[in-house]
Amino acid sequence: MESFDVLIAGGGPAGLAAARAAASRGRSVLLVEQNKEIGGPIRTSGGSFLSELRSLNIPDRFSHPIRRLRFLAPTVEAVFPYDQPDLCVLDVRGLYQHLAEQAIAAGAQLRLSTAVTGLLEANGRVTGATGRNPLNQSVAWQAATTIDSTGHRSVLLNARFRRFGVGAEYDLYNPNCDQGDMLLLVGSRVAPTGYAWVFPWGNHRVRIGVGLHHGAPGDSPDHPLPYLDRLLSEAANYGVNLRGAQPIEYYHGLIPAEGVAPQLSRPGLLAVGDAGGQASALVGEGIRWAIQAGQLAGDLATTPDEANYPTQWLATQGRHLALAHDINRRMTTWDDAKWDRRIAMLQGLPTAHFNTLLKTDFSPAALLHLAWKNPSLWATGFRELAARLSLKA
Ligand SMILES: Cc1cc2nc3c(=O)[nH]c(=O)nc-3n(C[C@H](O)[C@H](O)[C@H](O)COP(=O)(O)OP(=O)(O)OC[C@H]3O[C@@H](n4cnc5c(N)ncnc54)[C@H](O)[C@@H]3O)c2cc1C
Repeated sequence: MESFDVLIAGGGPAGLAAARAAASRGRSVLLVEQNKEIGGPIRTSGGSFLSELRSLNIPDRFSHPIRRLRFLAPTVEAVFPYDQPDLCVLDVRGLYQHLAEQAIAAGAQLRLSTAVTGLLEANGRVTGATGRNPLNQSVAWQAATTIDSTGHRSVLLNARFRRFGVGAEYDLYNPNCDQGDMLLLVGSRVAPTGYAWVFPWGNHRVRIGVGLHHGAPGDSPDHPLPYLDRLLSEAANYGVNLRGAQPIEYYHGLIPAEGVAPQLSRPGLLAVGDAGGQASALVGEGIRWAIQAGQLAGDLATTPDEANYPTQWLATQGRHLALAHDINRRMTTWDDAKWDRRIAMLQGLPTAHFNTLLKTDFSPAALLHLAWKNPSLWATGFRELAARLSLKA
């Protein structure tokens, strides 16, 4: 049986970042990915933030900057011009393959068309994993530390998520689309219990999708595809020019939407990214969170601090994602009238302040600054949030 310091299951952003970090620290690393390629098929829209990506050393060339965000409720619209770009849409395949190149350059081995199927365990500790190789033969790998980065299926940690954001998306070639304009759309016509989006990502390409929530009382029972097709047929009503546009890719995917998994590790096993529920439920945003968690787990794997991975991660990111989940649960109950009121409340908010909320920055300093500068927001929505954050109103 082959043996490694670190075995990584899943070559999405979380696993690739973990492989890069662990290999950079001199660990022997094997990453296995069930698909035939890294970065494909794509199952994500790639919305992110330049400032966050830069702090993770992601080069700007993978990010298409957005100049204006339009947030549309059924009858109300709030518009946020980004004079200083921060919001962006990723070249997903390009970025993931870049992360793979960096992991390989640091010394990691990657195996494609290779899947994990279960854990090896001895004396209450995970000691590696079983799997299938490209010829569909059974294989097994021993590892001092195994990292589950298999995404929403959480194959090794087995987080048993029951609630998901369910997204359907077309990636279109669109010669007439405004490449600076991003749209978020809410309301029962476009996305009951979720939201729809228009994300241009450069070179006349645009990802248009609809995400709904499934799994909790009050969530939608519907598939997002009929809503997506209707959105495309009605795009002109929302100021989106799809003349001459045709889809080049279609995909649908899931993102866990019930908060961070109660356990992020077991002895010998760490979970990162969607496998541990480490995405912001606010707008179903997980890529940079996955990279950040993967980086931390890869740094700590096989070190004496490995067992501190969950506490270290929760100390810096846990509060943001817990609140994002809380807000998401509330938003999914809002009817059209309430969405109109909430978006009206955002009208006039400076872009920088809206951006702080959108990127799930719920640090007390950021929220106090927002509340101080926007008294009307404080009066309508923030008091309750502040109470949950134990800030004095
Ligand atoms: C429709 C949709 C739109 C989204 N839009 C955005 C967005 O705009 N911005 C954003 O930041 N996030 C978005 N997300 C969320 C984001 O895609 C995820 O949070 C992110 O991809 C999580 O990264 P990950 O590495 O944890 O998991 P994944 O990206 O899911 O990667 C997991 C990898 O593990 C592999 N794998 C699975 N099982 C096995 C196995 N048994 N053996 C080996 N390999 C395996 C998979 O093939 C995959 O490559 C979206 C999600 C969906 C579904």
